[in-house]
Amino acid sequence: MKKKQFKTESKKLLDMMIGSIYTHREIFLRELVSNASDAIDKLYFRSLTDSSVAIGRGDYAINIVPDKSARTLTISDNGCGMTKEDLENNLGTIAKSGSFDFKRENEAVEDVDVIGQFGVGFYSSFMVAKKITVKSKVYGAESAYVWESEGADGYTVEECDKDTFGTEIILYIKDDTDEEKYSEFLDEYRIRALVKKYSDYIRYPIKMPVTKQRKKENAENEYESYTEVEVLNSMTPLWKKSSGDVTAEEYNSFYSEKFYDYEAPAKVITQKSEGTATYSALMFIPQHAPFNYYTKDYEKGLELYSSGVMIMERCADLLPDYFSFVRGVVDSADLSLNISREMLQHDRQLKVMAKAIEKKIKSELSKMMTEEREKYEKFFDAFGIQLKYGLYTDYGMHKDVLEDLLLFKSSNERKYVSLKEYTDAMREEQKAIYYAAGESIDKIEMLPQVDTIKSRGYEVLYLTDDVDEFALKMLSKYADKEFKNVTAEAIDIASDEEKEKAKAENESSEEMLKAMKKAIGKVSAVKFSSTLVKHPVCLSSEGELSVEMEKVLKKMPGADQNTPKANVVLEINMSHPLAEKLKALYRSDKDKLEKYAKILYSEACLIGGISLENPGELCELVSELMVE
Ligand code: ADP
Repeated sequence: MKKKQFKTESKKLLDMMIGSIYTHREIFLRELVSNASDAIDKLYFRSLTDSSVAIGRGDYAINIVPDKSARTLTISDNGCGMTKEDLENNLGTIAKSGSFDFKRENEAVEDVDVIGQFGVGFYSSFMVAKKITVKSKVYGAESAYVWESEGADGYTVEECDKDTFGTEIILYIKDDTDEEKYSEFLDEYRIRALVKKYSDYIRYPIKMPVTKQRKKENAENEYESYTEVEVLNSMTPLWKKSSGDVTAEEYNSFYSEKFYDYEAPAKVITQKSEGTATYSALMFIPQHAPFNYYTKDYEKGLELYSSGVMIMERCADLLPDYFSFVRGVVDSADLSLNISREMLQHDRQLKVMAKAIEKKIKSELSKMMTEEREKYEKFFDAFGIQLKYGLYTDYGMHKDVLEDLLLFKSSNERKYVSLKEYTDAMREEQKAIYYAAGESIDKIEMLPQVDTIKSRGYEVLYLTDDVDEFALKMLSKYADKEFKNVTAEAIDIASDEEKEKAKAENESSEEMLKAMKKAIGKVSAVKFSSTLVKHPVCLSSEGELSVEMEKVLKKMPGADQNTPKANVVLEINMSHPLAEKLKALYRSDKDKLEKYAKILYSEACLIGGISLENPGELCELVSELMVE
């Protein structure tokens, strides 16, 4: 019999398919099962209006039969079947599948990814089969036909015998090579796993005869094998059920099985949407960060389904980076099974879905913050830093989504507070939102300026993550209140009277302060302060860059001498007895004043959590004073 040639496009694709190295060849089974399910759908819908079709809903099934000795894998269905013409048209021409169109426009795109990820329907079987036989009979028809092909050099179609209606596809699995073990696709265990992974929610039962062992009757330790037909898929997706019909245990076990987490999720989020985008989503917020979460190995994304068939394991475009911890599935009837990854990125529908999903996650987190505070705080311990990075990146573009999800520990019993809670509790005369940054809360509480703010009855936010201050700088304001670092020179906390006093003191001691600045060498000014409570000195910074920010920048890869530095001012407590002592020294012993200046600067560094550039000098100076 004469072989017919595939249409040119199909041939090109087949060559690509047969020739490429496939990491994703397992998807062939998903493609065949989906086709079978579609074919059953068609017959089922026909049966609703056509009384000549007499099949009960429960009689539909997809059968998978692996045969190791014959090296065949057979997938059959009792769906609509194909006529001779159908076989020619459907299997002789490649369906106008999205991935192939895309491929033609962008020749540079790697073959492997386009086909590997998404498959191109029926043809993907040539990744694992050296020969394919398709027998099909339309329901109620007289004759059946068989289509057969060994790949790119063509196919044959002829009449054949087939008792039952529907389609039977026999794959002659390729021989194993040293690198490629095609035999895995004849393995019951592997097939079961593939069905679970990709086709668990197909609406019809997917059956497979499974080999089992049982004890022989009337025999002690003797076993015999027998086969039993097993239904491999669970059929109803959990996310299609309404949340009232699903128990917490069901959600939890679904989550832990699917996402390999030993702990139950902190929150289950369900969303059903109709309109511009029709989809259902089932999402989870984990209780703790996976071990690789803060590494570049972690891949964000939601599992994407097209009407119950998985098309992508981690669709990154559905989640913004700052919500990358969310796990879950999204199922939409609007997406085609064979859409390619590249096309998906530009899919308008997907963008609409992503926006709605982001909104939903945000509102669930806000709700959790107010209604389940303890849980939220635990969540924030695990993932808060991700939210703060989200605020910082893209120039604060995501401020509206994120600012109300933040928590900071504060001087108020070191408890977590949100920005809203902070500003709601602000006293009327309080001008700004005060914060202090440092390595740890203990160290922050040692800062002399924290003492100042607290002594005036204001709350101070404690910033202990490197990203914190940068994130707040991006925000710049909350509820119309500016954020102010308590160690900033321009903090403006003093009353008019205090300001006057400090001004007078600074003017009358101008020369002395200049001399001290010169002796220290590393500060932009030395000043008297009227607001320090009990500490004799502190360091504050002038300008945008704080001392803590300088520290963070210094730690970054690529930091060098050109990395910007904070402008530091040494402040001296004018009500401390030391102030008078300094003035006296300026009159009697300028040499000693210089030494004092150096010691005081070192002291201020230490209390401010800044490491000393020259600790030896401090030790010498102090020892010298001690022996006097
Ligand atoms: P797609 O499913 O994307 O259309 P395929 O190459 O997988 O592309 O299939 C081409 C066509 O062949 C299908 O659209 C369908 O009409 C037909 N087909 C494939 N498998 C079956 C089947 N098991 N029963 C009936 N028709 C089928």
